[in-house]
Amino acid sequence: MSKKVKIGNLGIGGKNPARIKGMLKTPTKDTKGLIKEAKTLEKEGAEAIRVAVRDQGDASVAKLLKKHIKIPLVADVHFHPKLALMSIDQGFEGIRLNPMNIRKPKDVKEIARAAKRAGISIRVGVNSGGFKRKFSSPKALGLQMVKEVEAYLKVLERENFFDIMVSLKGSDVLSTSAANELFSKKHDYPLHLGITATGPFLEGITKSSLGLGSLLYQGIGDVIRVSLTAPSFWEIRIAKYILQALNLRKFGPEIVSCPTCSRCEVDLVSIVDKFEKALKKEKIKQSAQIAIMGCVVNGPGEAYQADIGVAFGKRKAVIFKKDKILGQSSEKKIVADLIKEVRQRWK
Ligand code: SF4
Repeated sequence: MSKKVKIGNLGIGGKNPARIKGMLKTPTKDTKGLIKEAKTLEKEGAEAIRVAVRDQGDASVAKLLKKHIKIPLVADVHFHPKLALMSIDQGFEGIRLNPMNIRKPKDVKEIARAAKRAGISIRVGVNSGGFKRKFSSPKALGLQMVKEVEAYLKVLERENFFDIMVSLKGSDVLSTSAANELFSKKHDYPLHLGITATGPFLEGITKSSLGLGSLLYQGIGDVIRVSLTAPSFWEIRIAKYILQALNLRKFGPEIVSCPTCSRCEVDLVSIVDKFEKALKKEKIKQSAQIAIMGCVVNGPGEAYQADIGVAFGKRKAVIFKKDKILGQSSEKKIVADLIKEVRQRWK
């Protein structure tokens, strides 16, 4: 089990569930937009938010954001050690340092002392993009990332600083897996997982799900950040889906729906889409499974295993609760009928 660390009030590692981190993408000068994005991420389920700190003005947004959101803030600092010190002064609850660009032991020590005085944690985060050379294999890249982090940890540990999290992110699944698997065998610092620079939207979701999912499945990882070339709320949603799919966290009801095939005689895609939107509005927090299936081949079985299920026939739908038939519905009425059932059961 990994050690416990905190970002503000948020417990990370140990017996805590895997946490979800987001990062703001709005330019910090656009304060209105920045606040709006931070509030959106908090509403979506982010449990901590990282902010890129490139100058004194960026460091000062911590105070402003804290007036609008309750979740802790982490300053993402590169190149300039003074910015880390400013961010600590301004009230950030965590600092991310990049061992590839804040390297001098004297600087690292000064930041560690300031973090210790303020009672905040440091994430040592190395990314594959920090290396300006090619590696012979993903494993070789993973190994080098671990070496960079280990050298940095020694400097922090010599300062008696142990409130540390680590991230080792490649832009591909294999180097990220190799690095995190290796690191977790040797150390018990909590790991923040992510695949960095994942590419276009769907590829990014696939790489993040595969990379983070396979590590989490092995019990590796205490925080996840999904990185997508897309608006930031998607990163939080996908992170929740990953954790929910692995049964590590529950964020409300899950829809089980079939891919459809030529046996399906209804427009299941739009039924599921409408139902998903209607269900979101109900704001149900309990975990539940609702199956919506296109025909009687797998429909009754999935419906049985879910809390509520629907199996379509020719335009007609049969609604099940376990093995009991609750009633019949139609392609037109099914969304409203299912929502009625959901309300009766979970509201
Ligand atoms: S449940 Fe029926 S419609 Fe859906 S994929 Fe299976 S066989 Fe096809």
